[in-house]
Amino acid sequence: MIHILLYLNTYCIKKEELPKEMSEKKVTKIGVLTSGGDSPGMNAAVRAVVRTGIYHGLEVYGIMRGYSGMIEDDIFRMDSRSVANIIQRGGTILKTARSKEFFEPEGRAKAYQNLSKRGIDGLVIIGGDGSFRGAQKFSNEFDIPCIGLPGTIDKDIAGSDFTIGFDTAVNTAVEAIDKIRDTADAHDRLFIVEVMGRDAGYIALHSGIATGAENILIPETKTDIEELIASLTEKEKRRKLVNLIVVAEGDEFGGGNEIAAIIKKRLPNADTRVCILGHIQRGGSPTCLDRLIASRMGYHAVECLLTGRYNVMVGILNNKMNYIPLNNAIKAKQKISEDWFKIVKILAS
Ligand code: ADP
Repeated sequence: MIHILLYLNTYCIKKEELPKEMSEKKVTKIGVLTSGGDSPGMNAAVRAVVRTGIYHGLEVYGIMRGYSGMIEDDIFRMDSRSVANIIQRGGTILKTARSKEFFEPEGRAKAYQNLSKRGIDGLVIIGGDGSFRGAQKFSNEFDIPCIGLPGTIDKDIAGSDFTIGFDTAVNTAVEAIDKIRDTADAHDRLFIVEVMGRDAGYIALHSGIATGAENILIPETKTDIEELIASLTEKEKRRKLVNLIVVAEGDEFGGGNEIAAIIKKRLPNADTRVCILGHIQRGGSPTCLDRLIASRMGYHAVECLLTGRYNVMVGILNNKMNYIPLNNAIKAKQKISEDWFKIVKILAS
């Protein structure tokens, strides 16, 4: 109680000073959930939300399996101990899911009933842009403030230099690709490594540069197959037989298998192998960076709810907290700077 009184005193903001996404309404009970694709570091974010909420005298509730748990009333009270010993664990103790029912007004109404019967008046949603879309709709319909934390290995959300899980995923990819290079080198092989990224090429771009890949194929740029074949032919001529191509699963020509089929047809003598890294990129203990950003974002999510800064995504830009309205987080994708492409071209020659 003392905490709350102190807090209200400190954060009292005059109504006329409030920007559009701010409100005077104070939250007292908050729910936290992880939704959509899982990413390492989600647990660290949940821990930060729970402990910051409790520090400020709020009641904190965990919602299981994203919006599904909200609809099915799978909600439980959390205390400081509920999040003990989880900061180092991949996955999410709250589980995650995709909920078809939440797309429907009836599903969202059911979810609202389950929150309101407990008096939950604020939500922290850890997920990707799909989850933010759901949150935006929900808060428009029911006046429950929602704070989004970018939890995705794809790093494709605008307004934040980091997303929770990207650093771990990309480091997993780097470790695996380094190992592949060893065996590729031993046999003089052309290796095509497929990494995750249906719509975003960040994992491919970063892991490709970090492992010295000769070619990096991503959905954001047009893949010039003729140029790729020409460069492989030229390398074959000068007996540079080890080549590493990193491809994002969503490249317009397809993933590793499709690219390999094209190359085999055009360069039948190349000793070509494909490795699809798959779901190992989603798991594992989060890196220090992911634990830190998740902790920082989780802490600030609760601060947002307490200060009436509602319906924003909490990001980190230039090492400062950045709050962007959920609406904008949904619309804008993070763009890959042209600089990266130049670096790839020069360093891989
Ligand atoms: P991510 O958050 O990782 O991008 P999804 O796109 O699968 O994952 O979204 C997660 C969940 O968010 C969906 O299963 C659905 O319940 C909810 N959601 C996504 N888009 C909407 C929408 N337009 N309206 C309502 N709910 C949505």
